[in-house]
Amino acid sequence: MISEKAKNIKPSATLAVNAKVQELKKQGIDVIAFGIGEPDFDTPSNIKEAAKKAIDAGFTKYTPDAGIPELREAICAKFARDNNLHYAKENIVICNGAKQVLYNSMLALLNAHDEIIIASPYWVSYLEMAGLCGANAKIIPTDKKFKLRADAVEEAITDKTKAILLNSPCNPSGAIIDESELKKIAELAVAHNLYVISDEVYEKFIYDGARHCSIASFNDEIKKLTITINAVSKTYAMTGWRIGYCACEAEIAKALANIQGQTTSAPNSIAQKAAVAALTENQDSVAHMVNEFDKRRKTIVELLNEIQGINCSMPEGAFYAFPDVSGIFSERIRSANDFALFLLEKANVAVVPGEAFGSSRHVRFSYASSMQDIEKGMERIAKVVKEL
Ligand code: PMP
Ligand code: GLU
Repeated sequence: MISEKAKNIKPSATLAVNAKVQELKKQGIDVIAFGIGEPDFDTPSNIKEAAKKAIDAGFTKYTPDAGIPELREAICAKFARDNNLHYAKENIVICNGAKQVLYNSMLALLNAHDEIIIASPYWVSYLEMAGLCGANAKIIPTDKKFKLRADAVEEAITDKTKAILLNSPCNPSGAIIDESELKKIAELAVAHNLYVISDEVYEKFIYDGARHCSIASFNDEIKKLTITINAVSKTYAMTGWRIGYCACEAEIAKALANIQGQTTSAPNSIAQKAAVAALTENQDSVAHMVNEFDKRRKTIVELLNEIQGINCSMPEGAFYAFPDVSGIFSERIRSANDFALFLLEKANVAVVPGEAFGSSRHVRFSYASSMQDIEKGMERIAKVVKEL
């Protein structure tokens, strides 16, 4: 018999949709995929060159469990440059993607039955990770625009609360936590001695002049309680390279490195060299990609709102649209899950149902796909919805 933990864990809905899309494409079906969230851009060539050089130089062995010093230094420089966060390399740990940083962080901080506060809608994997740690996720609401307010955090704090998970910009809603609310959340965390796990992987994907702010940058007290998580995955179109990283107190960093040393060892040596190039060399590709996503964001939201029964607010960040589709619900389509299945079967369009993110009224579209696919996909959806 498999363990209780394994029995309880759900498959990742984002990865499951992606697997289904690949299967259908193999069968020759022309599916338009708005499922998985990964940039459709190729990894910039200077980054690929750095990886090739690493292979040719024989940089193909185990590295220190927290990652190579060269990359940890590059990450310190990145945090100082972009986030006004000043750390030494002893505070930095590199893992196999932000996903593993998140999981190792929860393992390092949470005991069984501890509570971790998570705002809804939330990214698919947070709850399952907390569950694997034996901890309880305390789900809290956001406002109509999916904005997290400090009041909601305050109401959820109990004597069992150990940590608050923040994700700004948010996957799936794209919402950015207002700086004034973030400050209040920092005060709450300090007052109640709560850790903050701050998932900032979409920090560069912000639009309309919005500003990203790292909670750890407010003062030393909140900095001591925070693990700031980021990755090269989205920023440099490197999802397959599997490099994520974090900055935190040295004691936590040591725990993270120990967990990693006993489970997966450090991430891939070649990908670490590629990540050095990503973080230290020319950054033009990032602005180019974000600019393109901004155009797609406006187009997809406009086209979605033209479809009767669909209501989509303009996301402030990330690369997802998260429309309310409950206006379409009927005897035949009763939930976001039903709607996602309907779209896949009738329109060959893949989206992720909102149930995976804590809402049965919404579906998630990743607009990190070509403008042509966005236009074609919305046309297909409009057509099948009209026929309902
Ligand atoms: N956090 C969020 C909010 C994400 O959307 C993702 C994307 N999968 C991750 C973490 C994990 O990123 P990575 O691919 O670097 O593991
Ligand atoms: N973050 C992406 C998504 O939500 C990648 C898939 C995943 O890691 O779950 O679709």
